[in-house]
Amino acid sequence: LSVNDYLRQHIRTVPDWPAPGVQFRDITPLLQDPQVFRVMIDAFVHRYRAREHRPDVVAGLDARGFIIGAVVAYELGVGFVPIRKKGKLPFTTVEETYELEYGSATVELHADAVRAGDRVLLVDDLIATGGTMMAGKRLLEKLGAQVMEGAAIVDLPELGGSSRLRASGLALHTLVD
Ligand code: 5GP
Repeated sequence: LSVNDYLRQHIRTVPDWPAPGVQFRDITPLLQDPQVFRVMIDAFVHRYRAREHRPDVVAGLDARGFIIGAVVAYELGVGFVPIRKKGKLPFTTVEETYELEYGSATVELHADAVRAGDRVLLVDDLIATGGTMMAGKRLLEKLGAQVMEGAAIVDLPELGGSSRLRASGLALHTLVD
């Protein structure tokens, strides 16, 4: 069984959540089962331990990106920085606003979270339209950092987000399509 198939079996699809017509891909079962959790984390760690892929810092996207990103950072022996929804970070921040299907969202990053020239691994649980990851990339670039790769457990390729992100020059690594 490939990692892709093994992890896919543990993703729960919840119909009509958070709105009618949406098929929500629930990744909490991957975290709940210690064996599955380890396979998932190890898949990332194996890749980013390699010299050519090793980041200086891991940035996680609010909120499931924190769970995965923090554990990966710990295993790599590098720092972790959170990119949060607006209004949560106490210190000086930079912010980025992006469009959602209805309305917009703003994310923030502490101004001293990364340094110019840092190679950053940007982590989230899932890529749908790609808007969240693109906003995170722009935030990190505002501080002069280089986003070396975006990583997520799940890509929903039919929504076009991963294609758009790659077209913008962001390399991506996902475990399940
Ligand atoms: P995007 O910005 O790519 O459209 O949406 C991705 C963001 O929304 C991620 O932060 C992700 O956590 C969340 N998200 C959107 N749809 C889903 C879904 O079906 N499952 C999960 N787990 N997260 C989702």
